[in-house]
Order: sequence, then structure tokens, then C-alpha cells
Amino acid sequence: MYPQNGQGRKIVVIGGSAAGPKAAARARRLDEHAEVTIIQKDPDLSMASCGFPYYVGGVFDNRNQLLSTPTGVVRDPAYYMNAKWIRALVRSEAIGIDRGSQTVRGRDLQSGQEFDIAYDRLILATGATPRMPRIPGIDLEGVTTLQSIQDADFLRKVRDENRVKKAVVVGGGLIGMETCEALQLAGIEITVIELLPQVLTFLDWQLAKLLEEHVAGHATMVITDNAVAEFLGKDGRLTGVKLANGTELPCELAVVAIGVVPNSGLAREAGLEIGATGGILVDEHMQTSDPDIYAVGDCVESVQRQTGAKIHAPWGDLANLQGRVAGENAAAGNQATHPGVIQTGICKVFDHTAGSTGLSESAALKAGFDDIESVVTAGPDKPGFMGGQMLVSKMVADRETGRILGFQCVGPGDVSRQVAMAAMAIMGGLTVDDVANADLPYAPPFSLAIDNIIATAQALQNKMRGLMAGISAEEMKRKLDAGEKPFILDLRGPDEYEVTRLGIGETLIPLGALRKRLHELPEDKDAEIICYCKISLRGYEAARILMQRGWRNVKVMEGGIAAWPYQKEQ
Ligand SMILES: Cc1cc2nc3c(=O)[nH]c(=O)nc-3n(C[C@H](O)[C@H](O)[C@H](O)COP(=O)(O)OP(=O)(O)OC[C@H]3O[C@@H](n4cnc5c(N)ncnc54)[C@H](O)[C@@H]3O)c2cc1C
Repeated sequence: MYPQNGQGRKIVVIGGSAAGPKAAARARRLDEHAEVTIIQKDPDLSMASCGFPYYVGGVFDNRNQLLSTPTGVVRDPAYYMNAKWIRALVRSEAIGIDRGSQTVRGRDLQSGQEFDIAYDRLILATGATPRMPRIPGIDLEGVTTLQSIQDADFLRKVRDENRVKKAVVVGGGLIGMETCEALQLAGIEITVIELLPQVLTFLDWQLAKLLEEHVAGHATMVITDNAVAEFLGKDGRLTGVKLANGTELPCELAVVAIGVVPNSGLAREAGLEIGATGGILVDEHMQTSDPDIYAVGDCVESVQRQTGAKIHAPWGDLANLQGRVAGENAAAGNQATHPGVIQTGICKVFDHTAGSTGLSESAALKAGFDDIESVVTAGPDKPGFMGGQMLVSKMVADRETGRILGFQCVGPGDVSRQVAMAAMAIMGGLTVDDVANADLPYAPPFSLAIDNIIATAQALQNKMRGLMAGISAEEMKRKLDAGEKPFILDLRGPDEYEVTRLGIGETLIPLGALRKRLHELPEDKDAEIICYCKISLRGYEAARILMQRGWRNVKVMEGGIAAWPYQKEQ
């Protein structure tokens, strides 16, 4: 029984995973006298959903770690009551909101009994539900999702029993890729099926293809431009999938990860305004169309700060940030604001990472930015003698103002740090020139004297000042496919050439020998010459030499071989 003191404001939170408990805890910290109640459908509270793939994959074995504080205390109702003075009703579903009498009708899912709880302020944190394709066989045993902790328990059991040999992951987004790795760690052969031409659509095509190549090296097949048309089964159990092109793939497990839809039904039935994305409409205070009701996390519609577009942004960090804002406002009046999102995300893909913030080039074009410039660079995250690992980055900027619009980064290096810096740059409205001169922390164990994001900004600055003309790998491929014959110059050493080469008609002239071998280049100073090396730094230096020696159409293939997403000769 919750100790009623009869004085405090009644704050009720529906949903007890990420956004809900954060809101409840913030409300409690600001108002010791409020009566704070969480109504949670699941048996567990504060589940770290983002950790599910790592529990499934066996990175850690103790399920309680998903539910615990940093000191190892499980966040159960007793913890909430003792540590936070918050009543948490688990296995209890909110089934209706009466805005007139300001009560929530709930149902105890064990006893079936219904109850009413009065509120002065209500916070909706009901999350999202996986989108499921309406295709035959969807109800077969063996077709699942990875959304709830029950899903995680099921997939962890699959891992521990070690009976499933082949699985299909439907959808190549963040959760699909993380699930793919988790199941591969469980010794299962995986096929990822993605409807679109690429996985991880927050990346532009070229960077996504680099990752696909990496995934394909891990007992995993990636099929793009195709969809599952039917789940095939026998005696109620999944035996395979049939693709839209007729191909049949045998499998005993299929994990559907094609996105989520906001759980806004309760809000809709209560007459609250719902946005075009299906999320609950909120303002910058996280207040719904009813001033006494707030909504946060995966159930709301968000504003993309750079474009003003309304989007659904189901991310764990946002759920926590928004929860904190709504908790404060519910307790203390509308003091806190959440300014919207720039869609910063990161995802582990085996021993590589993919991260992005702001607008990709394709998203910027779609949003109507037509005066944009971008560059792709490659380089290590720290010196080679400290075990530096490669990063391939892409920066997108507004050509006229130089403001950074987006940044993407993939590779085995420390992507997270680069993307975090870029996110701050975008939120702060910084330009390419600002970042090209950023004073960042440097010491060999951590970074380079010119860190990856700075090098990328400097390359973009060079392009914007006309010191370098870039060509992307995609443009290069289009040229070659169209039968054009630019003079292609590989500036690496013969040893490197022996190990890896593109085989696209290139001429190898090591940078150190270039000035002596200029006679081997086209006599026509208007001939198109395209320079590259492993990461295109030597390619850039060569281009500068040639441009200053009179060749007028010299380009650098951005990112060099490290960013080449197509097959190589060797
Ligand atoms: C496998 C996986 C990996 C992820 N990885 C990342 C990541 O790496 N980074 C990242 O930023 N995000 C990640 N996310 C997304 C992140 O987990 C979500 O954005 C976050 O959990 C949303 O929090 P929420 O509180 O809004 O919703 P949820 O976590 O979905 O919680 C909503 C809760 O509300 C309860 N509920 C719903 N309706 C009712 C009702 N009527 N009555 C009572 N209770 C109700 C539900 O039972 C649920 O427990 C991942 C998600 C998954 C599934």
C-alpha cells in the first residue's frame, strides 16, 4: 500500500521501462511530497532494452544485469519504494484514461481485477510495438521479434539450447544488425533480408555497403532489394521463408525487425491529439494536447531540429532525456524543455561500428537542401603504433553557410567519439571552418594530432575552397560503367599494390616517384585524372602537385581504397 499523505500532487506514470521511470524519478527529486505511481504492464521495470542483443549473444549471462543499478541492485517495486518513494505497480495495465475525472483505469493482469488511480498530472511512457508484416505464416512458432525482455529470454534460450542452425533476420536496421550479431555469436548461420537497396538506412549507400561487406565475412549473408513474402512451416513450426523473388531459404528461426510503431492507442482513445507519424503530439515541454498530460519516449512524435519535420525517433537516449523533462514539468510546472532531435545513433556491427548524426546526404536532399557539399574520408582513429583502427567518415555541409548538416562514420575504430563530437557541432550550429580548427584533446593512446573529424572537415574545407575536386566511389563506378576512360592514378607503393588493388585500369605511380614520372601522364592538360591511395591522402597530395603543374581536371577519389564499396581485383 502506498503511504498516502494526502497533501502531495498525484503524479501517475504509465509505462515502466526507460522514459517512465526517468520521469517518475525526476518528479520525485523535485517534489518530495508528490504521490508518484508507475503503472507497468510488464513484470519487470527499467529493462535496459538496448542491452538485449548482448544478453542474447552471451556477452554477459546474468539477466539481472539488464535490470540493475550500477551497484547491482535490481530495480524492482521494493527498490522503487525504498530508494525513491515511488509506488510501482507491475503486471498492471492501464486500460483507460478518464480526462474528466482525471483517473486512470487499470487492470491487475494476474487477478484480472480492475482499479482506478486519480492523477493531477499524468505521464504517458507506453513505448512502441514492433511492426509486423501482414504475410502468411507470421504466427508460426519460431517467428519472433527482439523488443521485449520476454523476446530476449526466448532468444537467449535458443542460444543456450543450441538447436537452431539457421535463422533469418527480417530487416537490416539497427535492431536487425544487432540481432544478427547476437545470433551469429550463438553459432547460428544468419541471412539478413532487407527490402531497400541497403542496410542501415541512416547511412548513405556507400558507407552502408562497406558494412555489408564486413557482415558478409561473418557466416552471414545479406540480401538487399528483396522481402519476405511468406513464412513457411510444418506442424505450426517455422521451416523456412519464401522471398518476393521466389527464393526459399530454410530456417528454424526468424526475427522480424522492420521498425516499431508508437503505442498511442490509450492516448488516442482518451481524445489526445496524435501526429501523422502515429506518435502522440507533444510540445517542447513534452505536454500533450491536454495540459495535465505529458508523453515521452517511443510513444511520441518528435521534431527534427534541422528540418522541422515531424518524425518518430525511437531511441533510448531520447526516452531518458524526454522523461527527465516531463518529470520536472509534471512536478514543478513547465520549466524544462526538450528541443527536438537530430537523429544521432550508433550501432555495433560485429567488430565494426556504424554511427550517424544529423542529415545524411540523401536525407538532406530529400529535405530540400539542394546547395550541399559532402566529402568522404578514411583514416585511423589514433597512430598506427598505438593500434589505430580505420574510420571511414562522411561530412555533409550547407555550401553557402558552411554549416555542418550531418556526419556519418563506420569502421573498426572509435566511431562513437567522432559521432558525439559531430552531434555537438551540429547542435551548436558550427561550420566546417570551425571544426577544421577544433581544439580537441590529443595524446597517442586516444587520438591523432588531427583527429578524424577535423581531417574530414579539412578535406571538405579544401573542396569548398576549390583546392580539391573530389569524386565519390559511386560517381567513379558510374563513369567506368558508362565507358568513360579517365586516367586513374594509384599513388601507393608496389607492396601495397601487390596486396590489394582495384583493377579498374589504374596506373601505379608511387607518390614519391610522381614528380620524376610526370611524362607518363596524359599530355593533354584537360584530360581527366583521378588520384587515389589507401585513404586518398597521398591521392590529395598528388592532385595538388598535378594541379599546380598545369593539369586542369584532376580529382581525388574520396576515401581511397578504404571507402571503395565494390569488388576489388585483389
Ligand atoms: C533490442 C533493442 C536494442 C536497442 N538498442 C538501442 C540503442 O543501442 N540505442 C538507443 O538509443 N536505443 C536503442 N533501442 C531503443 C530503446 O530501447 C527505446 O527507444 C527505449 O526503450 C524507449 O523507451 P520507452 O520507455 O519510451 O518505451 P519502452 O522501453 O518500450 O517501454 C514502454 C513500457 O510501457 C509499458 N506499457 C505499454 N503500454 C502500457 C499500458 N497500457 N499500461 C502499462 N504499461 C504499459 C510496456 O510494457 C513497456 O515496458 C533499442 C531497442 C531494442 C528493442
